[in-house]
Amino acid sequence: MVSSSSAATPAPAPTSSSTTHTGTYRQCTRCIMDTTVPGIRFDGRGECNFCQLHDKLDRAFPLGEVGHRHVAPWLRI
Ligand SMILES: [Zn+2]
Repeated sequence: MVSSSSAATPAPAPTSSSTTHTGTYRQCTRCIMDTTVPGIRFDGRGECNFCQLHDKLDRAFPLGEVGHRHVAPWLRI
């Protein structure tokens, strides 16, 4: 009865010398957001989805006199 204990685990494969994270680094052409931000996406012009959201909200709630007329009925002023 010979118990063969061949625990010869192979050495771990050497890690690649490239330490950069996978994927291409990109930064928004309008703001400082880049690919390190979770969930970021870029459109054809290189603008991020947060800039698009900003534009959408800007249209929905404009500043200045136009915006004042938008919110005045809600505020009853
Ligand atoms: Zn942006």
